[in-house]
Amino acid sequence: MEKIFGNFIDGKIDQEGEKIEMISPSDGSVIGYCIGSDRNTVDNAVNSSLDALNKISKINLKERQKLLLKLADIIESKSEIYSNYESLNTGKTIRQSSFMDIPLGIEHIRYFGKVNDYKESREIEHPEYPGTRGIIQYVPMGVVAAIAPWNVPFLMAVWKIIPALLAGNSLVLKPSHYTPLTALELARDIEDAGFPDGSVNVIAGKGSTTGNYLIENKKINMISFTGSTSTGKKVMEKASKNLKKVTLELGGKSPNIVFDDADIERSVKGVLFGIYLNSGQLCESGSRLILSNKIRNKFLERMKHYLDNMVPGNPMDFNTDISAITNSEQLDKIKDLMGSGINDGANVYYSKDLKNNVPGKGFYYPPTLLTNVRPDMKIFNEEIFGPVLSVTTFDTDNEAIEMANSTEYGLAAGIWTNDMNRAYKIASNIQAGTVWINDYHLLSAAAPRGGFKMSGIGRELGLEGIYEFTQTRHLFYGNPESGLSDAAYQLLIKE
Ligand code: NAD
Repeated sequence: MEKIFGNFIDGKIDQEGEKIEMISPSDGSVIGYCIGSDRNTVDNAVNSSLDALNKISKINLKERQKLLLKLADIIESKSEIYSNYESLNTGKTIRQSSFMDIPLGIEHIRYFGKVNDYKESREIEHPEYPGTRGIIQYVPMGVVAAIAPWNVPFLMAVWKIIPALLAGNSLVLKPSHYTPLTALELARDIEDAGFPDGSVNVIAGKGSTTGNYLIENKKINMISFTGSTSTGKKVMEKASKNLKKVTLELGGKSPNIVFDDADIERSVKGVLFGIYLNSGQLCESGSRLILSNKIRNKFLERMKHYLDNMVPGNPMDFNTDISAITNSEQLDKIKDLMGSGINDGANVYYSKDLKNNVPGKGFYYPPTLLTNVRPDMKIFNEEIFGPVLSVTTFDTDNEAIEMANSTEYGLAAGIWTNDMNRAYKIASNIQAGTVWINDYHLLSAAAPRGGFKMSGIGRELGLEGIYEFTQTRHLFYGNPESGLSDAAYQLLIKE
């Protein structure tokens, strides 16, 4: 029987609308259908979120935090369901969903449930007007439209929904039509945790239709977008028509710089984790290895050793190490960019043999290591969003910094060295929103993340991420005794 995963609008499941087939990337089978939401559905969802704002405002910050902690417990009790949905939909290994994406998302909800540093207002003094008093209020933006990509759908939904709810907003989330399952489940659980109907509506659909209708809806006050840089530009352009606030979390081509004094075993593993986790389909994937010439050969040999040991297979099997590619369009993009790299003279140093080890109808790309990559090549500069690592080498620290900063992106970077002074100096010169030192990919809800340059505008997570979902209101309390206003009024008004 056909399984339809309906939208979640105003506390109810809505199955009305065009059916969009969802294919399992692991084996090509049909998982079921989600809904391609039309303009009417989008408008209903936005109206429901608008109605919810008033109800949310009656739940104070501490109570909202309690509801978030309850939500975390609900999800934890169902984490197997979430992990299965996430892997079924994205093709990421069930080990990754079960031990990373879902538990990390739960921890991130708990962070927002417990954070004490976020305040809804603060007092100020006006130095120009002694004796007066000011209050700065952090007021919710209103109805937020959240638009998310397909690579980490659960985490993405958490990162957008939870801080926005904490700050008193309501949301309409449009997950990618490839991967809406965990976001739909999350919306139901948010309701079960006690948030009012319409606090979070989740509607599926494609970007060119549903995403577009959402941006065009005048009742939306803010768009929180994550996706590719090219789509981000379009979203910003469209949002400018109604002057909506926009935050953009976009693409990357992040460097991992390994110095000659690095712990080789640890850095080899970190670089592998940086690029091959989720088969390279993570915005901050370390897709450029910038490697000291002094250790090049030894380092690549060790990488080869661990690549040989990686187990291909069906990602739904707990033994499998290598994730599928989430959709066939992405697979084509990886092949195209690889083709350009080869044409430009890159050398395939390693390509894992996946043949006969993965389900025939699934979408897979072999973990690949490319050497002889030069900074002028497309493969060095463009986001591949796949399991392909481009290797370039350097001799001096300045050369490494220059190479790391030479793309138009600035999302993340990794630095591998045992010299912490060197690490701090280099990290402070990297144009990126996150720099890991002797680690990679470890995300904390306490730390803002986002991009420099073409990797985005604004921040997600951390206190900064909560404040993104607010606007300030300044209350100025005049003080007649100060006499200052009388002096000011005399500029215009004579007694
Ligand atoms: P995408 O830009 O194609 O789509 C992202 C979302 O935007 C989807 O929901 C899509 O339906 C929607 N969309 C597409 N066109 C639209 C339009 N014209 N109007 C409104 N909405 C539209 O990206 P993707 O292929 O889903 O995801 C991969 C990209 O996401 C990569 O570039 C990756 O780096 C980026 N990403 C960034 C981060 C980050 O935090 N910086 C995290 C994950 C992924």
